[in-house]
Amino acid sequence: MKKFNYYMPTKVFWGRECVKQNGDALRSIGKRALVVTGKRSARASGALDDIAAALGSAAIPFALFDAVEPNPSIATARAAGEAARSFGAEMIVAAGGGSPLDAGKAAAVLACNDCADDDLFRGGFSTPPLPVVAVPTTAGTGSEVTPYSILTDPAKKTKRNLKSERLFPVMAFLNSRYTDSVPPEVTAHTAIDALTHAVEGYCSSRSMPVADALALRSIELVGTELAKLPRGAPGAEGRDNLLFASLLAGCVIAQTGTTVLHAMGYHLTFFHGVEHGRANGLLLAPYLRHVMAGRPDRITAVLASLGWGDLSALETMLRALLKGAIALSPGEVEEYSRVASETAGAASTIPRPGVDDIKSIYAGILRAGS
Ligand code: NAP
Ligand code: ZN
Repeated sequence: MKKFNYYMPTKVFWGRECVKQNGDALRSIGKRALVVTGKRSARASGALDDIAAALGSAAIPFALFDAVEPNPSIATARAAGEAARSFGAEMIVAAGGGSPLDAGKAAAVLACNDCADDDLFRGGFSTPPLPVVAVPTTAGTGSEVTPYSILTDPAKKTKRNLKSERLFPVMAFLNSRYTDSVPPEVTAHTAIDALTHAVEGYCSSRSMPVADALALRSIELVGTELAKLPRGAPGAEGRDNLLFASLLAGCVIAQTGTTVLHAMGYHLTFFHGVEHGRANGLLLAPYLRHVMAGRPDRITAVLASLGWGDLSALETMLRALLKGAIALSPGEVEEYSRVASETAGAASTIPRPGVDDIKSIYAGILRAGS
């Protein structure tokens, strides 16, 4: 077995009522909190009420920043950081999908560091960020256990990855009841996001034994639950399975990072408004065809764990789950491919794709009804 280091410092609480029952744990982190959420989901899911109750029981005063948009901008993270500063927050409690979690993580840095955007993304901040507590309300990103915050940068016309071991949340509370209110298409997109994390980590040049084991279990769980989705929303057990799969896949990418698939998907999100998980799902089958040339054994294991059959069957399944077409002009494909070929994600993809390979992957994007 190859040598490896494994680091995952987040204390994970799992279970229904895990937030309400652990106010004491929050007391050990800080005396004042900024709660960071999206516009509706933290309330709709019931997470905000539970967080307020837990902070109340621990006598921790809090302020609410509830203005995080999907694919949050650097400006939003800066505004949340400023809110934390002016409230004198000693901790951030981020609740929602990956967007509020990522905005909360960046806000934790910006609350105690004055740094320009490029310094921020270089990890060039000297003061340790405020501790972050993460409460996911979607089952997909795994951001609650990763050292990343993905922010939209309108100046660079893409999404950028702020990465630092200091960004791992100190605690994560996972209660799948919060995902009951997730609409069906978001359930599918976020589950596919988790699937791509597990698959990319497993096929990456940075794959490692602990992540491999987590990835295969995650793929198996998502495969089982996605196959049931066309028949209706998941029940309690299905929601548990999807949230657990997302947690495992987050632990995978915390070690391995993502690959060229995510780098390609960012263009679909930034320029065409495609949701993060859907963008990844549209690219998954042609990406796997590319990786087949370098990692045939790994693709075989992925397909076996998914349990859907071969690559064509996977494509059929994804087509049923991902609705709506997306068309790119030749100029767009050229430009996105050039940029994606220069990313760290391309460098960790096996075989390493050149611009023409990436153009072929874009050309294979699933089209609805095709
Ligand atoms: P999201 O952008 O956080 O949320 C998508 C939509 O779902 C929003 O409208 C949100 O509403 C709604 N929603 C969330 N939870 C809900 C609930 N329980 N009930 C009803 N609606 C709910 O989506 P996401 O897919 O979870 O996160 C995507 C973001 O995470 C992307 O920016 C991606 O780049 C990032 N990401 C980060 C990592 C990492 O390691 N840091 C990994 C993967 C992806 P509100 O607007 O009201 O909240
Ligand atoms: Zn993702």
